[in-house]
Amino acid sequence: RTLTLKDPALLVDKAFVEGAWIAAPDGKSIAVTDPFDGALIANVPDLGRAVIAEAIDAAAAAQKLWARRTAKERAQVLKRWHDLIIENADDLALILTTEQGKPLAEAKGEVVSNAAYLEWFAEEAKRIDGDIIPGPNAGQRIMVLKQPVGVCAAITPWNFPNGMITRKAGPALAAGCSMILKPASQTPLSALALALLAERAGVPKGVFSVVTGEAKPIGLEFCHNPKIAKITFTGSTGVGRWLMKEAADGIKRLSLELGGNAPFIVFDDADLDAAVEGAMISKFRNAGQTCVCANRIYVQESVAAAFTEKLLAKVSGLSLGRGTEAGVSQGPLIDEKAVAKMEEHVADVVARGGVVLSGGKRSALGGTFFEPTVVTGVTQAMKVAKEETFAPLAPIISFKDEDDVIAMANDSEFGLASYFYAKDMVRIWRVAEALEAGMVGVNTGMIANEMAPFGGIKQSGTGREGSKYGIEGFLELKYVALGGI
Ligand code: ADP
Repeated sequence: RTLTLKDPALLVDKAFVEGAWIAAPDGKSIAVTDPFDGALIANVPDLGRAVIAEAIDAAAAAQKLWARRTAKERAQVLKRWHDLIIENADDLALILTTEQGKPLAEAKGEVVSNAAYLEWFAEEAKRIDGDIIPGPNAGQRIMVLKQPVGVCAAITPWNFPNGMITRKAGPALAAGCSMILKPASQTPLSALALALLAERAGVPKGVFSVVTGEAKPIGLEFCHNPKIAKITFTGSTGVGRWLMKEAADGIKRLSLELGGNAPFIVFDDADLDAAVEGAMISKFRNAGQTCVCANRIYVQESVAAAFTEKLLAKVSGLSLGRGTEAGVSQGPLIDEKAVAKMEEHVADVVARGGVVLSGGKRSALGGTFFEPTVVTGVTQAMKVAKEETFAPLAPIISFKDEDDVIAMANDSEFGLASYFYAKDMVRIWRVAEALEAGMVGVNTGMIANEMAPFGGIKQSGTGREGSKYGIEGFLELKYVALGGI
């Protein structure tokens, strides 16, 4: 597959370690393909554990020097990186769509809106303020310093191959940490392009590295190498749990942004058109492959028919196709495994008495395309209410009253995003407080931005990305007792 890029250098097939672009010493590689048709885009290095250990050594040496730079200098480098991403947004979007499948406009939106995390944390770098606290005894002061945790390992998923990187690298580098990143093996090219721009922006060698290769050996090296202080991971709950166990011996710091099972609630006083709009964004963006996607749509009985009708009208307007084609609103799913999960959830709905109102099957386009699907007559017992579908399946569950729906919404081991539409101020306050989730979208289906703390509770993870809180996970507190005053 040939990509027509304004800057062809951005398509890189080497890993980036200690400021050098490297192949695997034994020549091993991993194929990166276009999910649209399986065409080969590039082969990236399959690095073994020994190279990862060397990369960590380099990151450790680089971190010491980086932390000594002033916050203002670190901020300037991050700002330059941000600016280069914006300048190259079209190329980055094309690389992203080609390896991931999402529509080009969504890809560009991902690139631009997540570059903002670099800008934000460049600004925050200058506000890593400590504290001076009066001590309990005369002649004593308590000083609190904030210092970088050290070398951070990042592991990112394929659903946002570009955006998940800047929101991790931004706060890490701003805090004075170095970072070694392993992108998803399906989508390493966005990460490598970002690394090239980091190099051009003047990020010193070893401060930001990208390693590609088989996930497990790299994960093991990250978890067991004593020079890694922190692991920041976005991906499935299963892998997050595994990382937590493996990293336990070294008492490593962990930020985990894991799976969700977002409830999307429409109350009888909601603006139904706005609710449909929000449901479309929250459910069908990225073909339903986001961790904050609405997974279960609860609609109050009296408005269920009207909401469903409006939703179906919008869904019929979605057009499937190759992400690079104009007017396409849904690309292919990432792989066959994703299609299998979707099919399993639809079959389970049908087997237990639910009804498919639209879609429900693979698209005539073939490959991993699946028709956007709306099902009704769904109950809490069905798989779709319990597990994250991660695909374009909108299940409608009707409910009677507020207490019922809150109980159903909270009946999950996950607690990432939640959404509801209502107008009554008192209800809004009550429901926002009652939902067990790290994030609540009220009358909106879009919640992520660089100024807000993104993250989950329960088994959806720990730690926050974005906002003034997002940098805290990359800092340690040091208390200095000053006596003899
Ligand atoms: P998905 O099933 O959606 O691909 P994963 O959690 O498996 O989600 O993938 C998220 C990221 O975690 C990817 O970069 C993947 O390569 C990585 N990953 C998967 N298994 C491991 C592992 N054992 N150690 C480290 N990283 C892993």
